[in-house]
Parts: sequence; structure tokens; C-alpha cells
Amino acid sequence: STAQQRKPDWLKVRLTASENFSEIRKMIRGKTLHTVCEEARCPNIYECWANRTATFMILGDICTRACRFCAVKTGMPTEPDLAEPERVAEAARQMELKHAVVTSVARDDLKDGGASVFAVTIKAIRKRNPMTSVEVLIPDFQGDWDALKVVMDARPDILNHNIETVRRRSDRVRSKAKYDRSLQLLQKAKEMQPDIPTKSSIMVGVGETFDEVVEAMQDLYDHQVNIVTIGQYLQPTKKHLKLECYYTPEEFAKWKEIGLNMGFSHVESGPLVRSSYHALEQVQSAQSK
Ligand code: SF4
Ligand code: SF4
Repeated sequence: STAQQRKPDWLKVRLTASENFSEIRKMIRGKTLHTVCEEARCPNIYECWANRTATFMILGDICTRACRFCAVKTGMPTEPDLAEPERVAEAARQMELKHAVVTSVARDDLKDGGASVFAVTIKAIRKRNPMTSVEVLIPDFQGDWDALKVVMDARPDILNHNIETVRRRSDRVRSKAKYDRSLQLLQKAKEMQPDIPTKSSIMVGVGETFDEVVEAMQDLYDHQVNIVTIGQYLQPTKKHLKLECYYTPEEFAKWKEIGLNMGFSHVESGPLVRSSYHALEQVQSAQSK
């Protein structure tokens, strides 16, 4: 895990656009929807969309926070668009999604942090796509557990909240979010709906050690998290948080082994792993445990 100048080969993906890829993309853009897949230039987009998984970003594309690793714009967001949940649901139908992930920027300006919009979106997707599993990747709602309850009552198939990094690096890497508050959120979600799998992600390469990642996994496990994903941080621009090192595929494999031994129902760990990568398999393995 030494810092290198050039991107290692294992981070380069071969692009294989499926036939309907550009059609789907046109449809998304025509509906004025935001997908993380497109906006974060996710390297897995062809594979995920071909496998009928996509991540929608609701509640606008301007965030009230400014995490140093994140490429999303910071500023004053616009009023929530009440027609958006239906547009997401209809896009999921047209994309024939098997697994839909819904996430948002942190809306610290809204009274419930946007929780009610998450709930409405879950229900809208369900109504038009009864066979589609729905995962929500939520912000911390500033520790407002009533807001969390609104989301949990809508019964997503997976509740996802990212811890992002290890304890020691948390304050430096994240903006406003707190390591312990994130752990608490995951625990509370489990208490509210014990049968809904919880999930969290760690990005590596931001100044943590290998063992600190193992400690963070243990913290997640101790807060009853079921699924963990670990992926390589890639610096969006020179101005963003410095990339400290690239881990090797072997190191990612080692974390996976450690996590499975710890007792997680699913561990996705690899250089290109993103929070929603292979998300459908994660639901399936969590449900079978
Ligand atoms: Fe989209 Fe997530 Fe897949 Fe990337 S990993 S393409 S963001 S669903
Ligand atoms: Fe990016 Fe989320 Fe941080 Fe906002 S809260 S800056 S969207 S990581």
C-alpha cells in the first residue's frame, strides 16, 4: 500500500456498453433525474446498469455540507421537488431495475433532513415495481432519530449509512458528520426494524492504516451492521482530500476474509467497490441469513 504516481492497472476497467445503455441515459437525462452512477462518473456504470442496479440521487445535487473527498457541489439547495419520487419510480420501471438505490445530499436545511421524501420515494418505487428491492443510503439527519424512524417505517430492503472512514481520520475527512453518531444511527435503525439489513461503507486510501480499517469493521459489527463494503478512494480533483495510498487487491481480499470471519453476512471489498456495487447480491445474502 505505498503511494504511487500512476493509477494501478487494477483500477482501469474495460468499458462494455450494452445496447440500451445510451437509451437509458437519454431517458434519465430527459426526466431531469440525477444518478450517482453518472454524476460520480462511477467506473461500474456499464456493469451495474446491465445488471439492473442504479443509484438515484434525490433532493437535488447541491449539498449543505462539504466533505473533502466528495465532488458534489456545496451551497444552498433548492426546495424539494414533490414530483421527483414518481419520476424516480417511473425511471426504475423503464430501466427494469432489480435493485434501486436511493440516496441524497445532506439536507441540513430541511426540518426532517429530507426523511419524508425518502419514505415517499421508497413507496413510489414499490408501487410501480413490486419486484424491485429498494436500498436507501441516508445522511445522518444530524442525529434526529424521529427522522430516521420515518425512513425505517417505510421499510426499505436495506438501510445504508456510510461511516466513510476510520475513527482517527473521521473529523478530517468528513464534514459535520461524527463517527459515533453514524454508529448510533446504524444501531437505532436496527432497533427500529430488526429484520431490515443494515449496511455501511469505508473508503480507504485517506491516511488510515490496515488495522484501523479492521477496527472500524469491528465497530460496525458491534453496532449490529450486517453488510460492509470497502473500496479505494480516488481523488476527484487536486483540490480534494489527498489520496494517500493505493491498497492492493490482496489487501482488499484480506479485509473481506477478516470481515466474514467477524460475522458480517456480506462483505464487498475491492479497489473498485462502491457502496452500491453488487448491491443485489448483498440483499440476497442478507435475506438468506
Ligand atoms: Fe451506480 Fe453504485 Fe453501480 Fe456505481 S456502483 S454504477 S454508483 S449503482
Ligand atoms: Fe458529499 Fe455527502 Fe459530504 Fe454532502 S454530505 S459533501 S454529498 S459526502
